[in-house]
Amino acid sequence: MAGRYGTDKLNTVILWTGVILMLISMFLEGWGYFILWLLSYVCMGWALYRAFSRQTYKRYQENRRFLNVLERIKDRDHRYYACPKCRQQVRVPKGKGKIAISCPKCKEKFVKKT
Ligand SMILES: [Zn+2]
Repeated sequence: MAGRYGTDKLNTVILWTGVILMLISMFLEGWGYFILWLLSYVCMGWALYRAFSRQTYKRYQENRRFLNVLERIKDRDHRYYACPKCRQQVRVPKGKGKIAISCPKCKEKFVKKT
């Protein structure tokens, strides 16, 4: 595996998605079976492709983005907004009503309901 990316959290999730789709497809017939079976192979193929990829930086970035999304799903106390000017992500506490947010990067101010 020299020079190859190997596995990461994202790959584990893709692989498990493939396995679960495969298991569900066993209970289906016709098109439903075919589509899930195909998707499960696509997932496993994708996971393999990522594991053997030489573009380690790209794969690393994908995993980072994936972990960011997971963080946000788990984070129930905050909301995330993109700055209207520079697209910088801003995290604000939830349930404060209308608040003025100032972007930490470009200092743009915008009002959002949280
Ligand atoms: Zn900004």
